[in-house]
Amino acid sequence: MITVEEARALLFDLVSPLEAEEVPLADAAGRVLARDVAATRDQPPFAASSMDGYAVKSAEVELHAMFKVIGEAAAGHAFGARVGAGQAVRIFTGAPVPEGADFVVIQEDVDRKGDLITITDAPGTKDNIRRAGVDFTKGTTISAPSLLRAEDVALLASMNIPQVPVARKPVVALISTGDELVMPGDEPGPDQIIASNTFGLKALLEGLGAHVRVLPIARDTVASLETAFGLAQGANLVVTIGGASVGDHDLVGDVAQGLGMERAFYKVRMRPGKPLMAGRLGDAAMVGLPGNPVSAMVCGYLFLAPMIRRMLGLEDVVPPLRRARLTAPLAANGPREHYMRATLDENGIAACEDQDSSLLSVLALADALLMRPPDDPARDVGDEVTYLPL
Ligand code: AMP
Ligand code: MG
Repeated sequence: MITVEEARALLFDLVSPLEAEEVPLADAAGRVLARDVAATRDQPPFAASSMDGYAVKSAEVELHAMFKVIGEAAAGHAFGARVGAGQAVRIFTGAPVPEGADFVVIQEDVDRKGDLITITDAPGTKDNIRRAGVDFTKGTTISAPSLLRAEDVALLASMNIPQVPVARKPVVALISTGDELVMPGDEPGPDQIIASNTFGLKALLEGLGAHVRVLPIARDTVASLETAFGLAQGANLVVTIGGASVGDHDLVGDVAQGLGMERAFYKVRMRPGKPLMAGRLGDAAMVGLPGNPVSAMVCGYLFLAPMIRRMLGLEDVVPPLRRARLTAPLAANGPREHYMRATLDENGIAACEDQDSSLLSVLALADALLMRPPDDPARDVGDEVTYLPL
């Protein structure tokens, strides 16, 4: 059986970065910038006042100095003339500093009577002017690839980039398999349960920037599975849930291979999630996840998320592990890598009591997957362990 790392390497061979498309700036958040983009202007484009006050010559600024107010500069309305000796222009935040002036005395430091102002408080040395181009200058670039956050979108807007080149969203087809499953909202029979992983995985993958198509549930028959694979056509990644084990009703592997799937691997030395399979199916990558809800979600974090990131063209696709100290002891681990549901607090990390891979209530309470290497010995309170944040 291969390790998690080996499985990931094989999965990366099944996908490659997708092409770019342009989207309106307003839709760019959460997308991955596909090409470097450059500012088309300086910001600010002119020296601008950072305060409300009076624009004057710095050489004349001193306590008790008097000036004649000759006009006004407001944001969006420059004062069209020069400021001369002994003169001041009333100015507001964001307004261009008029020619001749190089200092803004804040209004709190000034007493005004009609057209005359007197500096009544020591104005200090800060000129309250933002130089042209202090934020960025024309040609300043934002480098690709990068995941565009809200802050990046604001910067792109300020650079006047209304259309943004981003990686196309990977299309994922999700196929739940099992005679026992019905969709949420449907009326389950007495021996049926609700398909849950499907929606957990859809949320996870869409949060990463994929477009997820939830296909109708496939029944545990060859014909139904073939139909589902047929509906998955056009996807970059086809993900099945369940039916990947060795039971009489676990048909996914056989059906996929019957449709020409070239298997890259089957089974990973990990817990939960051992019966994972993957391969290439036509133009798509295919991953068969185990059906147990926690196993499917853990595999989503460990394997599907990095595949999505790779298709988006990102560089650091494997989520970094973090370290914390145990607040409760751990028994020795077995021969498989174990991803334990765990909770974090300010003191450290503790594994949840029940690690059964069917318990979504435990997964929902967890903040982290505590990672145990194969054959990790028993651990005490205070020992450092690694974890993946959820
Ligand atoms: P399987 O891998 O098909 O043997 O399924 C293992 C367990 O996971 C069984 O108890 C299934 O009922 C359950 N299961 C499979 N698929 C899903 C799903 N989409 N949502 C919730 N439970 C599932
Ligand atoms: Mg099944």
